[in-house]
Amino acid sequence: MKCLICKADSMVNDRSTYFAQLPNCYVIIENVPCRKCTQCGEVVYPTSVMEKIDELLKKVEAIASKILIMDYDQAA
Ligand SMILES: [Zn+2]
Repeated sequence: MKCLICKADSMVNDRSTYFAQLPNCYVIIENVPCRKCTQCGEVVYPTSVMEKIDELLKKVEAIASKILIMDYDQAA
């Protein structure tokens, strides 16, 4: 897989922290599986992970306080 930003063939499996801003709160999800470019640091989330995050954010919107921090492995 090639990096969309720097075109280097240097995407590796990694974990990243996903940050989202909802209308009523901030959500931070730690340890999200991703592909990361070792060249420029660009992070790409696989479609399956994005779908899971979408689901989580919908749930979170209903129960959210101001800031919510969760772990991907525990929440997904
Ligand atoms: Zn890159």
